[in-house]
Amino acid sequence: MSFLQSDHSFILNRYKNMLPVTADTPLVTLGEGATPLIKSTRLVEMIGLRELYFKAEFMNPTGSFKDRGMVLAVAKAVESGSRAVICASTGNTSASAAAYGSKHGLEVIVVVPEGRIAQGKLVQAIAYGAKIVSLDGSFDDALTTVRELCQKHPVALVNSVNSDRIEGQKTAAFEIIDDLGKCPDILALPVGNAGNITAYWKGFKEYFNLKRVEFVPELWGFQATGASPIVQNVVVKNPETIATAIRIGNPASWSQAIEARDASNGKIESVTDNEIMDAYSLLAKEEGIFCEPASAASVAGLLKNKLSGIDFSDKTAVCVLTGHGLKDPDVALQLKTTQLESSSNINSLEKALDWH
Ligand SMILES: *Cc1c(COP(=O)(O)O)cnc(C)c1O
Repeated sequence: MSFLQSDHSFILNRYKNMLPVTADTPLVTLGEGATPLIKSTRLVEMIGLRELYFKAEFMNPTGSFKDRGMVLAVAKAVESGSRAVICASTGNTSASAAAYGSKHGLEVIVVVPEGRIAQGKLVQAIAYGAKIVSLDGSFDDALTTVRELCQKHPVALVNSVNSDRIEGQKTAAFEIIDDLGKCPDILALPVGNAGNITAYWKGFKEYFNLKRVEFVPELWGFQATGASPIVQNVVVKNPETIATAIRIGNPASWSQAIEARDASNGKIESVTDNEIMDAYSLLAKEEGIFCEPASAASVAGLLKNKLSGIDFSDKTAVCVLTGHGLKDPDVALQLKTTQLESSSNINSLEKALDWH
């Protein structure tokens, strides 16, 4: 298997027949998709599953799953003659829009809630040359304002309310089935604006309808307790969580998330910031995987279910690890660490290490 640009491995090419790709769609790629399914060696025991895999979506070109949807949304915007794209974003959507927009030579405008975007995501938007607008308000306010703007001006909206985003993102479900050779019993993922859970459900259903699999997984979505509108069944005015990617109080794809939950016989529950941080640290220290806090909500959710007495010992689960740990260095710096000091000679270093 090779990963050359001409290869089948990028999603617009590999899954062309399952996507709204036409002869006029520019098949540009930055190498998105084909992310590894990493087999768990320790957390699988801790949680008590038969098998556990991590879908390493943080290995996409800009470090999050947003690239799967963005590669298609931006290509379709170009196909329809747009010269500019815009999004509201907690960070990863803007990084992804900025990258694909620059690849296609488009103007990119990203609207972010003031002071609430992780450093790593902001520096990406800066580096790719997007026009950044910080808006005084929440993500939900930013999305409402941007949607209004798009009604008045000829600019393509590339948030997950754009159906091409969902179409591109559903390919992650195809890859999981293609790699595992079956459906997992459980797919666990964080839920913010709820585009991704919508996309996975669409992908699994499509393979099921094509008879590629005999069943579909239960979708288990996890929100952060301080930003859990779907769990509480009420809009959250001031969502709060350390997991900024899911700090969303009024998900745009709310009803689709409910549909995915109910039709898959799944659940949408909440996990606290402490539970998220524990899972975040465990993933790094026990599995060698450094993802961002929002991604760890999937593992936190499985651990919580285990603690509440759910028996999954005969189940195969996949956790979607949505974004890279380097996106949010400020959170990583809050972890407990061992940092020693030494002079530059062996005796001092031995002393510092307490090696005698
Ligand atoms: C966008 C994002 C989410 C939430 O996905 P939704 O489609 O908004 O539910 C979770 N984690 C990360 C890292 C993200 O970038």
